[in-house]
Amino acid sequence: MSNPEWRSVGNGHLEGPIPIPDLDPSKLTITLSESLKPIPEPESLIFGGTMSDHMLVASFDPVTGWSAPEIKPYGPFTLDPASSCFQYATNIFEGMKAYVGPDGTPRLFRPDKNMTRLARSAERVALPPFNSDALLELIKKLVVVDKKWIPNLEGHSLYMRPTIIGTRASLGVTASDHALLYVILSPTGPYFRTGPKPISLLATTQNVRAWPGGTGSHKLAGNYTSGFSPQRKAAKQGYDQLLWLLKDESGWKVTEAGAMNVFVVVGRDDGDIDLVTPPLDGTILPGVTRDSILAITNAHTAGKLTLPGIPPTKRIHTHERPFTIADMDRWLEQDKLQEMFAVGTAAVVAPVGRVGFQDEDDSKIRDLLLPSYEGGMGPVSWAVRKMIVDIQEGRFEWEGWSVRCE
Ligand SMILES: *Cc1c(COP(=O)(O)O)cnc(C)c1O
Repeated sequence: MSNPEWRSVGNGHLEGPIPIPDLDPSKLTITLSESLKPIPEPESLIFGGTMSDHMLVASFDPVTGWSAPEIKPYGPFTLDPASSCFQYATNIFEGMKAYVGPDGTPRLFRPDKNMTRLARSAERVALPPFNSDALLELIKKLVVVDKKWIPNLEGHSLYMRPTIIGTRASLGVTASDHALLYVILSPTGPYFRTGPKPISLLATTQNVRAWPGGTGSHKLAGNYTSGFSPQRKAAKQGYDQLLWLLKDESGWKVTEAGAMNVFVVVGRDDGDIDLVTPPLDGTILPGVTRDSILAITNAHTAGKLTLPGIPPTKRIHTHERPFTIADMDRWLEQDKLQEMFAVGTAAVVAPVGRVGFQDEDDSKIRDLLLPSYEGGMGPVSWAVRKMIVDIQEGRFEWEGWSVRCE
């Protein structure tokens, strides 16, 4: 959490040119809304379309530090048109969810991971640092205030969007020394309402999402903007999402699918299986779901837990290593490519059924067809999805990953 200007020193202060106040939960004020909104029927929810009654807000000023945080009614901000966020995209965010457990208590899934990732994003775009434990404490308070907005139905949750924007009101091309931090909440239903349906991906050689030394491993708003037009073109060609590639001497490396990490399941000659995902080399967003899937699969293979539907004796070897479209072609030809799936907080696990690939010199798209399974998901996709959702919703306790908000 080092920033050229300020550094969190852990005593409630940021150390910089002068010590200034850090984010402080003991200064929280709560103003409850006097006009509560009707809570929509869970079946009618569209992702990100409805916001809850309240939001958490704090602002940063280089002289006075972080303001006293506020929980207050959800509503618009007034911002100077020259604000850094509008001119230079000093916008970062997180995506996380709150669930209700069987005991009725709201729970978060590995929220410390989102907090440290947000702190890393802030550092990458030189937004001010903040105490990430303090932010988590504040988020828990917000979730308790809007607890009734967590849909109490399996596969449903309250999506949370912690955001920090640069509010320096000047056109000077430089870091924003003013910022606004806020957290908004949106109830969501399952990604697949009618059961899992394999998605199709168009592997693009025309545009890249991330590159070595770039910002692809951080959750910066600007990383998504450049994908909107290619995504629209892919949709016109009949594909659900883009499969982002990156070319190097090994060929067209697979990196991510839309805004999700990717995995492939590859059979081995010894009867075991390999679970492969691209390494965190700076071009891959370090997903919490990705990390969790690697951890529970390793735990299965080590005999520490059993993935549902997978025999305890079936070993799954995890690998964080690059693979290319040519590797996928070869595995398909050898009948070894068993499953491909995309993972992230919103969908948890989305099985992939088809990958269209258009080489640079070839105008015709060639489809790579993945094996299909009854019910829409292969055994590994299904098992890791079930295990993660059971941990998130508090039906299975594992390594303190499910954190209660009280
Ligand atoms: C957020 C995100 C992911 C998934 O991360 P999770 O922490 O699992 O939600 C993957 N790729 C990109 C580009 C993302 O923005």
